[in-house]
Amino acid sequence: MTETDVVIIGAGHNGLTCAAYLAQAGLRVCVVERRKVAGGAAVTEEFHPGFRNSVAAYTVSLLNPKIIADLALADHGLEIVERRAQNFLPAPDGSYLLTGEGRTRASVARLSAHDADAIEGFSRELELIADVLRQFVLRAPPNLVAGFGAGAIREAFNALGTANILRNLSLDQQRDLLDLFTRSAGDMLDERFENDLVKALFGFDAIVGNYASPYAPGSAYVMLHHAFGEVNGKKGVWGHAIGGMGAITQAMAKAARAAGADIRLEAGVREVIVERHRAAGVVLENGEIVRAKYVASSVNPKLLYTRLVPAQALPDNFSARMQRWRNGSGTFRMNVALSALPSFTALPGEGDHLTAGIILAPSLGYMERAYQDARDHGWSRAPVVEVLVPSTLDESLAPEGAHVASLFCQHVAPELPGGRSWDDHREEVADLMIATVDRVAPGFAASVVGRQILSPLDLERQFGLLGGDIFHGALTLNQLFSARPMLGHADYRGPLKGLYHCGSGAHPGGGVTGAPGHNAARTILADHRALFASR
Ligand SMILES: Cc1cc2nc3c(=O)[nH]c(=O)nc-3n(C[C@H](O)[C@H](O)[C@H](O)COP(=O)(O)OP(=O)(O)OC[C@H]3O[C@@H](n4cnc5c(N)ncnc54)[C@H](O)[C@@H]3O)c2cc1C
Repeated sequence: MTETDVVIIGAGHNGLTCAAYLAQAGLRVCVVERRKVAGGAAVTEEFHPGFRNSVAAYTVSLLNPKIIADLALADHGLEIVERRAQNFLPAPDGSYLLTGEGRTRASVARLSAHDADAIEGFSRELELIADVLRQFVLRAPPNLVAGFGAGAIREAFNALGTANILRNLSLDQQRDLLDLFTRSAGDMLDERFENDLVKALFGFDAIVGNYASPYAPGSAYVMLHHAFGEVNGKKGVWGHAIGGMGAITQAMAKAARAAGADIRLEAGVREVIVERHRAAGVVLENGEIVRAKYVASSVNPKLLYTRLVPAQALPDNFSARMQRWRNGSGTFRMNVALSALPSFTALPGEGDHLTAGIILAPSLGYMERAYQDARDHGWSRAPVVEVLVPSTLDESLAPEGAHVASLFCQHVAPELPGGRSWDDHREEVADLMIATVDRVAPGFAASVVGRQILSPLDLERQFGLLGGDIFHGALTLNQLFSARPMLGHADYRGPLKGLYHCGSGAHPGGGVTGAPGHNAARTILADHRALFASR
């Protein structure tokens, strides 16, 4: 048996961030992770002899700059580089859109003079609202509490702080904010733009990890969720971590260990120990016990409350509500080893566009049909694929002359209709994804010398992502902000004393941000100090 101050369930990037902050503050911290490697969904692995890639998460922008600085991640080996072009969207008719610093306007103008004027205004609108969101990322949302105790006073101040941030927006900007939280991305984009590729550029962000049509109400928020990041101080930009996403979590693990945290691998949690309505530690799968004053969980909240915390320890209705927590991203992930770079019919040969996020989804209608098809059939027969070739920015990933590509594919059903299993359809769907790329980049299929396939079921098995949900729960209005993971528990405190949420199931949600881990650490430290002050 081990005794410690804090035990953290899961060494994903949020568990590691939380561990590093707590250890830096002088607490004894033990992180227990089920897998052989730390990093959760942000890891780099060799998937084919000589070829390494980010296994699941594959591109960086949302990682908070304060966390990069506080954890001195650069000193621990992290280097993030910008893509030389941001996005490339080739269309079947041979036209294309190529965005990035100094390129977007001219490229849009070739497709539509109207949209070239409109895009600057819309990007400014998004940027302004993203600036507001940035102010909410590293603070707990206002939490609903019963009664008028100390918690209610604390929350009243928190709500005032939130109101103050919003007060800085004009009434018109507040209306934009409401639109972005509630409306469909498709409707908003149709109102502003006329060209399909321009709409698809923004619309893609609305369906990434979101098993829904771009015309579903609330999809505009998902688009916004992908816009509040930055790379090396440049807002809204996406980049690449040298060495893949695992470089981020390896640097975090080093920062946590340097501050004194103990990170145990192949140490899955079987159960959270509850004594007198308080979380008191965990029992590992091998029977070992880690007792702790505080238990912080970075796993999907549904996994925590339906599999790890004994049901009888939870308040009435809590478990029933958690059963209804909506998971399922509708994503299918592949890594491919390539003997040569892809060459696109719309823009043949090498160039900066091969460093971009290459979006194969030429219109919002295409994305909507992909979703409908996946609902009916189990996967879209004309899927949405983003291709990223990180070896164009990072020579460490593939042998000389060869390359690796990430394929991030939407829409597939989290669970196949008719009781079918993903185990029986994985290869067939992987072939379809490669054929989809080959259609716009002939020769791509022939250049694939190795592949790694992750269906939603594989994502659940390997990473504990229920239903393959990349965000630990859909980013819908009823699962966001003060309602993440449930009204009354948005302050990172669970329904049992001593139990905290430090993963993507807490505000501000999924993505490699580090924010839930940072915010949870602050709450745990506040409770720890209050406990000592009261003694
Ligand atoms: C395919 C895919 C692509 C993505 N692409 C991007 C992207 O490009 N950019 C981006 O910013 N985000 C991306 N995301 C989202 C992002 O990766 C996740 O939201 C984020 O990494 C989640 O971090 P976390 O620390 O909250 O949880 P996780 O990374 O899920 O970590 C939780 C950890 O808990 C462990 N665990 C589970 N059960 C137990 C147990 N019983 N005992 C002990 N440990 C346990 C797991 O093994 C895991 O290590 C992607 C995600 C996926 C799946």
